[in-house]
Amino acid sequence: MTTPATAPVYNRIALIGLGLIASSMYWAIQRSGLAGEVTGYARSQATRDTARRIGLTDRVCDSAAEAVAGADLVVLAVPVGAMASVASEIAPHLAQGATVTDVGSVKRDVINSVGPLLPESVHFIPGHPLAGTEHSGPESGFATLFDNRWCLLVPVEGTDPKATAQLRALWEGLGANVEEMDADHHDLVLAVTSHTPHLIAYTMVGVADDLGRVTDGEVIKYSAAGFRDFTRIAASDPTMWRDVFLTNKDATLEILGRFTEELFALQRAIRTGDGDHLFDYFTRTRAIRRGIIEAGQDTDAPDFGRSVSKEKI
Ligand code: NAP
Repeated sequence: MTTPATAPVYNRIALIGLGLIASSMYWAIQRSGLAGEVTGYARSQATRDTARRIGLTDRVCDSAAEAVAGADLVVLAVPVGAMASVASEIAPHLAQGATVTDVGSVKRDVINSVGPLLPESVHFIPGHPLAGTEHSGPESGFATLFDNRWCLLVPVEGTDPKATAQLRALWEGLGANVEEMDADHHDLVLAVTSHTPHLIAYTMVGVADDLGRVTDGEVIKYSAAGFRDFTRIAASDPTMWRDVFLTNKDATLEILGRFTEELFALQRAIRTGDGDHLFDYFTRTRAIRRGIIEAGQDTDAPDFGRSVSKEKI
């Protein structure tokens, strides 16, 4: 459980992009009083109108320049492919000594594309909260999204440790556990734990959709737990995931190569009737699942804790 902060961690936080991650940050900032004021900006009038209607941020601004003026923390919460254009838009308007961070799912590309655009007078500390849902937009956020989840900070060489400690305090106040990690290692770890699994889910749902001998109606009606989980993942925002694969190309291709090798080995074991291979493989993977539950990163309730109504089976 998060304990309310005794004093704001930042005087003014500017959220650029007002989707799932930014809106969850705002509600969690409010929950614990982590900022004196939060300003917000999104590129579309529709999102800004929604944000004003639901009270998302203390002040919704009509330009990124207005939102970042006087902010001591600026959070870039847009798709990875849009980070650089947003950074060049805000760069001339940043307060001296401000910290700029981001929440993008890929880190090396953000460092390479955003870093050179920012003035030397600001601290640039990339970050990535490992928390999300398949929903997007300003109305999808909730205050508990980051509770007991990891947030990885990726400070570049020469970053002021005091600025990093302040950003760490914010994420801890948002409910997250914080660790620092090197950018390339981050991108490899996330290729294993998030990016490639998403690609596999997209593929499996695409296969089911293409398969003429099983109708779409049957797929929906009889979808077992495994496939339902794939469909949930494959419902994630297309822009965000397009950008993830375009910017974490090397690590994703490396993991995909290994995945393909393992898949061929399993395919061969099925064809040749090698039950020992299948049994040993599934025994090893079961242990990984147990480790995730023991680490508190998921529930061991049957069917991921879903309440199942008989009519829906
Ligand atoms: P989201 O709900 O889709 O919101 C994206 C926001 O970015 C919207 O406000 C959108 O503005 C704005 N935007 C989109 N394209 C833009 C462009 N070309 N230029 C300027 N602004 C643009 O996204 P999200 O899930 O919050 O993701 C934001 C970041 O967090 C991404 O970098 C993603 O990789 C990362 N992340 C996501 C998750 C997750 O599970 N969703 C988890 C961890 C990290 P409009 O509304 O005006 O279109």
